[in-house]
Formats: sequence, structure tokens, C-alpha cells
Amino acid sequence: MSQLEAPSVDVLRQHCKALRMPTAVQIVGEALDTARREDWPLETFLQHLLAQELAGRRQRRIQRRTKESHLPIGKTLSTFDQKRLPLRVRRLLPQLCRGELIDRAENILIFGLPGTGKTHLAAALGYEWIDGDRTVLFTPTYHLVGRLLRAKRDLGLEHELRRLDRFQVVILDDIGYVQQSREEMEVLFTFLAERYERRSVVITSNLVFSEWSQIFKDPLTTAAAIDRVVHHSVIVEFGSDITSYRAEEATRRNRTKRDEGEVTGE
Ligand code: ADP
Ligand code: MG
Repeated sequence: MSQLEAPSVDVLRQHCKALRMPTAVQIVGEALDTARREDWPLETFLQHLLAQELAGRRQRRIQRRTKESHLPIGKTLSTFDQKRLPLRVRRLLPQLCRGELIDRAENILIFGLPGTGKTHLAAALGYEWIDGDRTVLFTPTYHLVGRLLRAKRDLGLEHELRRLDRFQVVILDDIGYVQQSREEMEVLFTFLAERYERRSVVITSNLVFSEWSQIFKDPLTTAAAIDRVVHHSVIVEFGSDITSYRAEEATRRNRTKRDEGEVTGE
């Protein structure tokens, strides 16, 4: 003991701080009190302190990754009405949420008419994956395409693609909404080809495959793009029997307003 500093909570806090253990800094005093009061074995105390630090780290990591993901706020699984999903997809959902397919660099393609919940589902999965310690980026396709185009013009496309590589999953929301020019579709194609079999993409689209030539212009590139994204993928289709949630909401709101109007005699 002679070479050690006199034991004190302050010194412990300083050491925890130097070791970048912010949770431990906060709780070490209280943990010591509890340990003394309850007569904890030394192992129990140390284990408690380290476990709390690890839990704190996980929480901070998830917070940081959620922020970096740009996932739309509130579009989580808890706000998503799963009863609206086709039965096949509902059964598949727990498996998709677990995210093993991300570890296998597989893709998810979500098709359906506007307002059927494609974006919400993709985002909800994104939140689940972050919670499972994975990295996710959510981006409207036009946004990503713009970013890649700018990078290409500045001769930084490689660098930009490598930056995107940090994310195990990129959710491309609404593919098919943007590509006006050949250059735009080229960077999009490069991005997909680059991730093929290495990293996952989730794609939402109102366009079925036969309409993807609108995105990739020429038939060869279209076929090549479809081939790559489909190769290892799960396809989720919202059948045409799933009506627009937005439209239903609007009808419900109008009906409520009308009913209220009738009750109050307006
Ligand atoms: P899409 O991307 O297919 O056009 P969205 O995911 O944007 O549709 O859904 C439109 C709106 O309806 C959003 O506000 C979304 O949160 C909501 N919504 C759609 N499906 C569901 C659902 N199953 N449960 C709860 N809200 C939903
Ligand atoms: Mg959408």
C-alpha cells in the first residue's frame, strides 16, 4: 500500500476521469457507500462499477449513432401499427428487427403505393438496428445523390463513398424520385455497386422493378442495378390492398370534425 496515494473518493474520481470513464466518475462515491453499507465483497464493487460504466457507454453510443443516423424522429416500431402490415411481413418483422441480415450485408427492398408506411417501416427498422449496436444512415435518395454528385465534381467521390462505408446500413428513401440526368444515375449506380455484398442498403420505392428504367435510364444499367440489389435481399411488398395511411388519417379527421360539428350543431 505504501507506494499508493492515500485512498480517497476524489483520487478515485480523478483516475476514472483520466481513464475516460464518465459514468464511473459520477457513481463511484455512491457505489462505495452502498458497498460499505451492504458489506459487498471487493469483486462485487468492482464489477458493479465497471458494469455501470459499460452500460453508460452503450447508452452514449446509441445516442450518438441515433443522431448521426438522421432517422426521422418518432418513426419507431412503437408508433407503427403492425396490424397494417401484410401477414407475411408481420411474421418476418422480428427477424428483420434482429438484424442478422445486416451482418450478412443483405438488403431490404420495400415496395408500395405512396402513404402505405414504407418510410416509417424502414426508419423503425433503423432504430431497432441502432439499438442492436449497428450503424445506420437514413437519407432521402435525392439527398444522397446530390451529395455524391458534389463529391464527384470535387474529385472526392472515393472519399465520400468511404465515409458512407462507416454505416453498416444506408436507408435510401424513395429511390426513383430524383434522377433527372445521366450523371445522377451514374453516381447512384456506383454507390449501389460499391456496397454490393459488403454493406446493406434498404430501399423504399413506389416504383416496381419494371419501372426502374425511369431511374437508371438505359436497360443495361437498370438490369445491372436490379441484379445487385436483389441478389441477397428480402423484398417487402405492401399489397395494393393496403391503403394510404395519410388518406385514412385525413378521412378520419374529417369524419371526427363532421361528427363534432353535428354534435355541437355547427
Ligand atoms: P410511404 O413512405 O409509404 O409514402 P410513410 O411511411 O411516409 O408512407 O407513411 C405516411 C404517414 O402515415 C406517416 O406519417 C407514417 O408515420 C404514417 N403511417 C403509415 N403506416 C403506418 C402504420 N402502419 N402505423 C402508424 N403510422 C403509419
Ligand atoms: Mg416514403
